[in-house]
Amino acid sequence: MSKWKEAVINRIEQRTPTVRSFWVALPDREKLEFRPGQFLTLDLPISERRRERWRSYSIASAPGESNEAELCIVNLPGGKGTTYLFEEAEPGTRVLTKEPGGVFTLPDRPLDYDVVMICTGTGVAPFRSMLLQRLPHETRHFHLIYGSRTPDDLLYRDDFERLAEEFPHFTYSVALSRQLPDEDTTFDISKGYVHPIYERSYREVRDDIRFYLCGWSQMVDEARERLLKMGYSEEQVILELYG
Ligand SMILES: Cc1cc2nc3c(=O)[nH]c(=O)nc-3n(C[C@H](O)[C@H](O)[C@H](O)COP(=O)(O)OP(=O)(O)OC[C@H]3O[C@@H](n4cnc5c(N)ncnc54)[C@H](O)[C@@H]3O)c2cc1C
Repeated sequence: MSKWKEAVINRIEQRTPTVRSFWVALPDREKLEFRPGQFLTLDLPISERRRERWRSYSIASAPGESNEAELCIVNLPGGKGTTYLFEEAEPGTRVLTKEPGGVFTLPDRPLDYDVVMICTGTGVAPFRSMLLQRLPHETRHFHLIYGSRTPDDLLYRDDFERLAEEFPHFTYSVALSRQLPDEDTTFDISKGYVHPIYERSYREVRDDIRFYLCGWSQMVDEARERLLKMGYSEEQVILELYG
């Protein structure tokens, strides 16, 4: 098990009405090595008991030359960790963290299957990291199916629009449960939840496809169940549960 190290919150930015990005740096190194899909676990000063202080956050940025990782965090009313991060943490705040962890990653070799990424809210974080790193080098198709409530809640919209424009092997689909935008969009957008999108697009079961699901259990469990019912195998459905 890796040791705790000191990390510094360098920058905080409001991304949507309820979500902020926190750029966390590890001053003990020049470059932070991680695999897209991995997370950082923070030890936050919110309890006397060690285990009650730990909160994990997926890395939303791609590995680069710096010692920073971007964490994209939603403020949960009454949540201990997020109340601390949103009300007390500021640029310069020091917290403890571990080495990046987790196995919700793509294989290192070039992919021989298409990837469908299904998420809601901040569950998009690991997919942003994966897409930024892999799209320029892969030939297989990537499809991000992203659920949110309103147009204002969409995270990284500009990034995904740009990637869809640049890479013909990337499709960006959005499901909004409460309100559609007034203006036309360059991407596929529908009212409702994420589920009808993959059920329609991947009705014909294929071996050369993997579904990556990330977020809170309500959506992830339901998507997994629906995919298995459609005829996909357990090995084709890969999960990251936030809680
Ligand atoms: C591997 C991993 C990666 C994660 N990555 C992220 C990330 O990138 N961004 C992010 O915002 N969070 C992420 N989380 C969740 C995060 O670790 C915390 O659980 C979250 O911030 C709530 O912490 P809290 O202390 O504020 O709430 P707590 O005081 O722990 O209480 C919150 C309670 O409400 C439930 N709950 C919280 N939010 C929701 C929700 N939206 N829907 C339904 N139930 C909910 C929780 O299960 C919990 O019981 C991740 C979790 C894991 C395990």
